[in-house]
Amino acid sequence: EETAAKEAAASGAASKGGPTIFDKIISKQIPATIIYEDDTSLAFRDINPQAPVHFLVIPKHVDGLTQLSKSEPRHEQLLGHLLFIAGKVAKQEGLDQGFRVVINDGAQGCQSVYHLHLHIMGGRQLTWPPG
Ligand code: C5P
Repeated sequence: EETAAKEAAASGAASKGGPTIFDKIISKQIPATIIYEDDTSLAFRDINPQAPVHFLVIPKHVDGLTQLSKSEPRHEQLLGHLLFIAGKVAKQEGLDQGFRVVINDGAQGCQSVYHLHLHIMGGRQLTWPPG
């Protein structure tokens, strides 16, 4: 828990459930390379890419959607939309040979920014299992 809090602080998360660095990316207060945006979602390149193509898809306006494990019935349609956009932007990015979608959820899932996000990685042969 302490490690998770330190990681969160290092990533700019004020607290679990509070504003995070991703809110500043959404409001364009800090720069990010945005590759897709609509009314409810945003996709931008990960600042520390783990593959030749590595981008994140995040919800823009849902308060409290910090973790998949804490989602509610009202989030169901948006969660589907995020996955749909992940596939659409993967195609836009030319990942026709395949890619991976990951959600790091909570401390044991290695989540560092407590604003739900999908990682999409591709452009090289990935291996399994992850660490
Ligand atoms: O899943 P997790 O919470 O660990 O991942 C957060 C991700 O957000 C990291 O891959 C990190 O590189 C990325 N990030 C980013 N831009 C920031 C801060 C973090 O792309 N300004």
